[in-house]
This record gives sequence, structure tokens and C-alpha cells, in this order.
Amino acid sequence: MNDAQTPLISIKNLQKYFPIHGGVLYRRIGNVHAVDGVSFDVRKGETIGLVGESGCGKSTLGKALLHLHPPTGGTVEFEGVDLDTIPTQRLRELRKEMQMIFQDPMESLNPRMSVGSILEEPFIIHKGEHAFDTAEKRKTEILRILHEVGLPASAYDKYPHEFSGGQRQRIGIARAIALKPKLVVCDEPVSALDVSVQSQVLNLMVRLQKEMELTYIFIAHNLSVVKYIADRICVMYLGRVVEDAESQAMYKKPMHPYTQALISAIPEPDPALKKVKQVLEGDVPSPIKPPPGCHFHPRCPYTRDRCKTDDPSLRAIDGNEKHRVACHFAEEILAQSAGANA
Ligand code: SF4
Repeated sequence: MNDAQTPLISIKNLQKYFPIHGGVLYRRIGNVHAVDGVSFDVRKGETIGLVGESGCGKSTLGKALLHLHPPTGGTVEFEGVDLDTIPTQRLRELRKEMQMIFQDPMESLNPRMSVGSILEEPFIIHKGEHAFDTAEKRKTEILRILHEVGLPASAYDKYPHEFSGGQRQRIGIARAIALKPKLVVCDEPVSALDVSVQSQVLNLMVRLQKEMELTYIFIAHNLSVVKYIADRICVMYLGRVVEDAESQAMYKKPMHPYTQALISAIPEPDPALKKVKQVLEGDVPSPIKPPPGCHFHPRCPYTRDRCKTDDPSLRAIDGNEKHRVACHFAEEILAQSAGANA
């Protein structure tokens, strides 16, 4: 495999369980299976969309792959380096290459620090790992970054509460890109913003990706946002990936019944385009005790006996490794849904 083919990040069978304690002795009585055996690769410059309802494990997955939440099991390799096997100091250095943008910038930005201090922090934490070794050089660089994300130089001395939601997210983006990372995990970066501001922030992210050759893992519950930005999409349900496909293929030909329901719920602006809306019954089951077999079977309109006992693995359909689905009957369901939408 040459460099162009080597994934920037590769996760294999990643698990993140949170223990539940209870009883008189406060013993461990179970686990929340937040991420339950997820595997995928992300190539350099690619944008992967991680999509699913809230509680499906997508944000935990984002943090686990950055080792902000140490994983319970599985491996994460960044440029071929297994993050579990390297010394803490090396992991700390690698964090410079892997940054995160959070959903609510007000929560992630320290309200008592000026924007200049917030943006200087990464340079101070990673002292000796970059060329900005004096306060003067750092300030010049920070002013350049502010300009890059569309904020005026006057933002340097201001505090987060003096900005609008969209501007605060630009500060969050500025902090994430300050050290020129390779990978940015974007955790619902526009879902707290007004719709009118969302596209401006998304446009900024797309521009920065091109200029800086960034790789994004873009977490969202809204498929329409991901459609705009992602090359590939992984749909998650109860801590697992149930469908993984290139963005266009996912929208044109969703195969998993859960993906089909999510896509059918996206409003279609053209009334001439007929779309059969699929409504899912019930709520997402508890990740403390996921249903046996296919986790989706209590809500799936196509459930059969096999689904209640036999756990489907993610598999290529018709030999196409670029479109993988975790469903025993994906081919039949696709044929049926094609008929219904004809
Ligand atoms: Fe539905 Fe069965 Fe497919 Fe699961 S395996 S998605 S329950 S048809």
C-alpha cells in the first residue's frame, strides 16, 4: 500500500463502554454500550459524515478515536501508528495533528479568557513543536488565523460573550486549525446555529479543508448537512455502523431500512418528486441492554425471525466494497423499496 492509499486514520472494532454501578456495594452492574465494534478507514483529504439519532454513539466515537475517552477495546491507528501502544508523550505530540470542533462553542471556550489568549493556548501547550516561540510571533500568527476564519483583528482582545453564535464557532474553528492539524473531528459544528449562519460556517470549513488539506470526521444528526459536506457517510445505530457508502450512493440508493427512513424524512423542495415517507415506530432501545440479533429489529418494518437472533455484520453488496450494509436482507429490501418509489 503506498502513501496515497494509507488511511490517515484507521479504526478497527472500536468499543467504548461506560460502566454502570449500583447496589449496596456500588458494584459494576452493567455497561452502556456507547460504541460497540466500529471499523472504518478515513483517507487524507476525505470527509466522513457520521450520522444517527442522538444517543447512537457518534459523539462518543469521535472522542474515543481521538483518545479523549480512552477506548474500551479495538484499535485506532493514526498514519499507521497504534495510539494505544505509544508513550503518553508521543500521544500528546500527536494530539497537535488531531483536533476537535465542538457543537456549542460557548461551552468549549473559556468565558474568562480573551480570544487572543484562547488561541494562544494551543501554541503554549505544544511549546517547542512549532516555530512560534515568542509572544510577538504568536500574536502575528493568531491575527493571521483570525483573518483566515473571517474575524477582524479587533476580535483578539475581546471575550467570547461579545460574539454571535456563528462568530463564536469561527473562534472554535480558529482554535482547532491553529496548529495546522491533519484531522479535525467536527461534532455537530453547525447544529446550534441559525440556518442562515450554518451555510456560512460550512462554506468556511470547506474552504479551509481545501487550503489546508484537512481531513474531516463530521458528526451530525441531520443528513441534509452531511450531504453538503461529506464524501462518504457512515450511518450509526446503537453504537454500530449499519451502512457505509459514498455520499451520492447513500442518497440515491440507501439499503439499510434505518438509512431509508432517515433519508425519507429529509424534506423534498420539489413537489414533483414523489417520495414515500417512512415513519419509524418506537424509540431507540437502551444501549445498556441492546436487543439481541439485529439491534434494529424491534423497529424494522422488514423484521423476520432470523433478525431476532442473528446479528448481521457489515458486508459489501454485489461485491461493491464501497457500499457496505449490516442487514441480512439488504438486496430484497432494496428491490422492494425501488418498486415502491417507482
Ligand atoms: Fe431489518 Fe432484519 Fe435487516 Fe435488521 S437484519 S435491518 S431487522 S431486515
